[in-house]
Amino acid sequence: MNAESSIFTKIIERQIPASIVYEDEKCIVIKDINPKARVHLLIIPKKEIPTLFDLTPEDRDLMGHMMLLLPQLAQSQNLEGFKIQINTGEAGGQEVFHVHIHLLGN
Ligand code: 5GP
Repeated sequence: MNAESSIFTKIIERQIPASIVYEDEKCIVIKDINPKARVHLLIIPKKEIPTLFDLTPEDRDLMGHMMLLLPQLAQSQNLEGFKIQINTGEAGGQEVFHVHIHLLGN
């Protein structure tokens, strides 16, 4: 782990604790520490990509993998519907510069 690892990489590497809902070889899913809905999950790739602006074609499978996880996660949380949000760049309200999808549902 280098000094510039994101807070999410530190969670992935178990350097700091989080409530982990799901994990596989490509991503981790945690509960947001400051939930904006009854269910507020963060789907985070293990690859540390700062923002959507930094995606490359090699990330196609990874992003697709995370999209396919969303309905499964929603169902596991007993949600009949949900919203997703990906804040991108400082101007887009992004605070943690490690790509993540917010999944929100009530
Ligand atoms: P964004 O970068 O899209 O604005 O949002 C970052 C999100 O990460 C926020 O909703 C914030 O509450 C969440 N967050 C920041 N630090 C931590 C942390 O250490 N643990 C968890 N579980 N969530 C965090």
